[in-house]
Amino acid sequence: MTDIAPAAPSLPAPDSAVPDLTVPDPGAGKAVFERDRAHVFHSWSAQDQIAPLPIAGAAGARFWDYEGNSFLDFASQLVFTNIGHQHPKVVAAIQEQAARLCTIAPGFGNDKRAEAAELITSYAPEGLNRVFFTNAGADAIENAVRMARIHTGRPKVLTAYRSYHGNTATAISLTGDPRRWANENAGHHDGNVAHFFGPYLYRSSFYATTEAEESERALDHLEQTIVFEGPGTVAAILLETVVGTNGILIPPPGYLAGVRALCDKYGIVYIADEVMAGFGRTGAWFAVDHWNVAPDLITFAKGVNSGYVPLGGVIISDAIHDTFRNQVFPGGLTYSGHPLACAAAVATIEAMRDERIVENAAWLGENVFGPTLREFAERHPSVGEARGIGAFWALDLVKNKETREPLVPYGAGGAAAAPMNAVLAECKKHGTWPFTHFNRLQLTPPLNLTEAEAREGLAAIDKALNVADSYTEQ
Ligand code: PLP
Repeated sequence: MTDIAPAAPSLPAPDSAVPDLTVPDPGAGKAVFERDRAHVFHSWSAQDQIAPLPIAGAAGARFWDYEGNSFLDFASQLVFTNIGHQHPKVVAAIQEQAARLCTIAPGFGNDKRAEAAELITSYAPEGLNRVFFTNAGADAIENAVRMARIHTGRPKVLTAYRSYHGNTATAISLTGDPRRWANENAGHHDGNVAHFFGPYLYRSSFYATTEAEESERALDHLEQTIVFEGPGTVAAILLETVVGTNGILIPPPGYLAGVRALCDKYGIVYIADEVMAGFGRTGAWFAVDHWNVAPDLITFAKGVNSGYVPLGGVIISDAIHDTFRNQVFPGGLTYSGHPLACAAAVATIEAMRDERIVENAAWLGENVFGPTLREFAERHPSVGEARGIGAFWALDLVKNKETREPLVPYGAGGAAAAPMNAVLAECKKHGTWPFTHFNRLQLTPPLNLTEAEAREGLAAIDKALNVADSYTEQ
């Protein structure tokens, strides 16, 4: 852990009334903590079992607490600060927009909203030319599904196990991880959803031993799912292009083209969820670019403006847009296309383009993350597989490399998750903040990370893997 908080970036000089948060102030941190615990209700948590760390500030790839500890943000928070913290061009764009026009209702035309939509579609595959703006990822999913259902006149959506799509009723039902279960038990559920297994060669559901086999068998399984669910009932197939939270699962060659072909064969809408994988995370503007497929709808959020102001949306194909030329789309949001959020998106995308940030993510993946993490997999008994692309990496941690038994069981929480919590604590002790999910350590830093920062974080991960190794059956 470093003692000295890094200098803030070259932003305009702070107002004298604003405290300098780079100077440690434990008393202020304690006050934040107490106020938080008295009044803030946190996501995905038993409220008495959490101790949220008060954060004093952040700049670039780092954030720091009130005690003077700073952390390299190898999670990009929840995988959204793709251009790092406090990027001066985006901060300035938000300030400028706030001074000019903070907000205007969605029914009006607005310059930044139109500019953001034009920029976003300019990076989307051919034939996707319209954007419906939402506040975040879950409501993007919700509205994409609504569009697909109305466009096809069919109710059902097929989606993969090992996926996360958001926290609203339909989005959580589409989710293929345990967060769905508690919601189902609470009756918070969209019943027109069926799940299938996507490709994951390291833990193949299809007894495959090569990527080609995995792709072919996963596609065969998907087609059988369509046939047995009834093709005439299926509105959409929804897929994270690269599965994010549930493991950084990269589709084998041919799989996404095969999904596109099945959708065409059965008249099904292909929705690519790029809420996490989009906007440069994989080293391409959209992850589908790596496999040259054009979905009918793309959902996005997070990286579109690095979460500086909440924003998400759906990029819509011309064919689906045509459905709503003379038919009302029965959906809307008070803040759809919020000018502050859209101004932040324009500035973010321009900064990413001008500073070659997406290219940097691709470079880091090929030259730093890939080789280093694969070397960790050879040297550490706990690393079953290192996989990733761009600035999107996972270490699949195991008890035993032969059996591939996960270091902690699927869905592990509480005491069962202790080994992963120990690994995470060790990373933080060495000043690096990655993210963990079940048996995986996931590394998703800002895309404009420098090589030196990448190597610094990886050195901390290397040390923390010694803790993971101590839990293996060597
Ligand atoms: N889809 C994917 C792939 C995600 O990773 C997430 C969030 O992590 C969502 C949807 C939901 O986004 P939000 O939390 O902004 O509603």
